Amino acid sequence: MSAWDKSSYGQDETQSARLRALPSVTAILSTAAAAELTQRFGRMISTEAVRITVDDARTAIKAGAPAPGADDLALQALARLEERDRSGLRPLFNLTGTILHTNLGRAVLAESAIEAATAAMRDAVALEFDLSTGKRGERDDHLRALLCDLTGAEDATVVNNNAAAVLLCLNTLAQGQEAIISRGELIEIGGAFRMPDIMARAGTKMIEVGTTNRTHPRDYRAALSAQTGVILKVHTSNYRIQGFTAEVSAAELASIAGEKGVPLLNDLGSGTLIDLAQFGLQKEPTVRDAVAQGAGLVTFSGDKLLGGPQAGFIVGSKVLIAQVNRNPMKRALRVDKIRLAAIEATLKLYRDPDRLADRLPTLRLLARSRAEIEVQANRLRPLVAKSLGESCAVDVCACESQIGSGALPLDTIASAGLMIRTKNGSGALDRLAAALRGLRRPVIGRIADGGLTLDLRCLADEDEFVFVLSELNVDALTG
Ligand SMILES: *Cc1c(COP(=O)(O)O)cnc(C)c1O
Repeated sequence: MSAWDKSSYGQDETQSARLRALPSVTAILSTAAAAELTQRFGRMISTEAVRITVDDARTAIKAGAPAPGADDLALQALARLEERDRSGLRPLFNLTGTILHTNLGRAVLAESAIEAATAAMRDAVALEFDLSTGKRGERDDHLRALLCDLTGAEDATVVNNNAAAVLLCLNTLAQGQEAIISRGELIEIGGAFRMPDIMARAGTKMIEVGTTNRTHPRDYRAALSAQTGVILKVHTSNYRIQGFTAEVSAAELASIAGEKGVPLLNDLGSGTLIDLAQFGLQKEPTVRDAVAQGAGLVTFSGDKLLGGPQAGFIVGSKVLIAQVNRNPMKRALRVDKIRLAAIEATLKLYRDPDRLADRLPTLRLLARSRAEIEVQANRLRPLVAKSLGESCAVDVCACESQIGSGALPLDTIASAGLMIRTKNGSGALDRLAAALRGLRRPVIGRIADGGLTLDLRCLADEDEFVFVLSELNVDALTG
């Protein structure tokens, strides 16, 4: 700026003085606050962040702001990097009321599974190595016996997820051949898993039989031919057809398929290893039932009701599992040592059904009574109200939880939670939901009936919840 400018514009003179007072990048980097910055994020990224912070401060000064000090700028740079460093995969509070929320990562793992996975991550393991002979082993050896014990099947294998299991089984049994399926079972599951598309990608020709609401044994019999590679039965996990309906049971279908020497593939979806009636839920077919009904292969998920990590299990006859294992696609769908360790530990919990609900988070959460959750809600209400401040009203409410992930879609479980209403008119509720999502540990609820419901069924760490909420910026709610 020239001498003429300075003398002519007093305003600019103080502004340029403030710009001159702005500390240099070097000065900021030698503050005590910057020591933490470089310690945590490294010299290169810290210098870059400080430079951007100084640029921003310069722009702010030109708009009339005062010149910040070096410590202040170092702290701003630290905040900038901390914000950028926050992981999108950091733990959150799932207070949606959906226990197995696909968008929130489905099942939360048991402690023993977490420990097993961590140990497998840290060290080498005998993944494909037989410790008794010293020769090459098989990945599936770690789970085969457990899965056979728990399901009554002759043999078993595991792949990336149940979608992969279905794809692999169809491709193995009926590539270049026909696959028969009822029109009532042509399901779509979230994430673009549509049975007709999967059947096409597996290289099979889909033969639809029956109607949307009724399919009879004669429909399947009429469709069976020399070109049939498989009959597919799919558990309609995420919807129900009610009213004037008829479906052919898995047992009857197995015998119809057997007459022609064609295998039955039964995709259970969620598939559970225990009877859910003991938790007051409707009966969901167990894997053992499906195996006993005579299916050649049965597929089910690892991270739905089973409560483990993402995985797809295939159990069934020795001959068919061997065929699946020979399919070159199997290699592309295999599971790594970390998940195998977690799956093994999860399945082992099922050997002791009496203590399963204590040890397996999915069942523990499912089994919590409304009365128990209501006590928790009453305990937390004043603390939550205090953190949310004057602009919100917080009440204990009754609500309904769901299992989620397409298991028992019509069943709800009586639960309790906190209903938050905002007093500042339209937009306030969305601002509240956004502020809760922006917390160090995000809180995710459900907006309904003009309020935000926090279903407390899945809230385990109460102290952390209260602490995180206390960090809420209440001013942001009254935007
Ligand atoms: C959930 C489901 C699948 C897909 O399982 P993922 O483990 O999510 O891949 C397939 N079939 C049925 C019937 C399902 O319910």
